[in-house]
Amino acid sequence: MDLITEIAANRAAILARIADAARAAKRAPADVALVAVSKLQPDERVEAMLATGQRLYGENRVQEAQARWTERRARFSDLKLRLIGPLQSNKAEDAVALFDAIDSLDRAKLAKALADAVQKLGRCPELLVQVNTGEEPQKAGVAPAEADGFIKAVRKEYGLPVAGLMCIPPVDEEPAMHFALLAKIAARNGLPTLSMGMSEDFETAIRFGATQVRVGSALFGNRA
Ligand SMILES: *Cc1c(COP(=O)(O)O)cnc(C)c1O
Repeated sequence: MDLITEIAANRAAILARIADAARAAKRAPADVALVAVSKLQPDERVEAMLATGQRLYGENRVQEAQARWTERRARFSDLKLRLIGPLQSNKAEDAVALFDAIDSLDRAKLAKALADAVQKLGRCPELLVQVNTGEEPQKAGVAPAEADGFIKAVRKEYGLPVAGLMCIPPVDEEPAMHFALLAKIAARNGLPTLSMGMSEDFETAIRFGATQVRVGSALFGNRA
């Protein structure tokens, strides 16, 4: 099988599973977007994915994303890029310049840096607040108990719109309770967008209301 055929088959299979999971949850398949996580993937796999028509991609590092996507943006005017990894405040301006969405807003210092960058560049990416649902010390995200206050501060103090929430459950736990918690926090804050679910658990995430699933290895193959 050549690479485009292989990648197209992977994508078709994932889209079919997304549609099945959505219907099983009495939701419309079109209400769940597939974010193709291209971090650390070889260029030829990304080119093959572009050839299938996939236009929504997730990257977790600003520099890697700049190198990969700056030139491709000119070739694909309908490309959408989401930053799904942690963002340092000193990279906020680069991130605002490149990405259509930043899914990892999780602290006041970063909100301030983003607000300044938005002001300066005159463009505002969609913003999601990352919640550390498992309260893991090594993981980014606001603690669940602080989420409501942080969302309010981002809106009121920094004047930034919040579109939704993102989480990455602990690897060794049943993800369902984490997805349910994220959905609950989103609902009480009036947030429509839920980025949750990866290769291993995106169907569960859809059951709990995911509007975007972030799938890497199941689409592209294992990362280097
Ligand atoms: C790498 C990554 C993914 C994709 O993981 P897979 O298990 O390869 O699907 C999703 N979300 C985030 C935040 C990631 O860093």
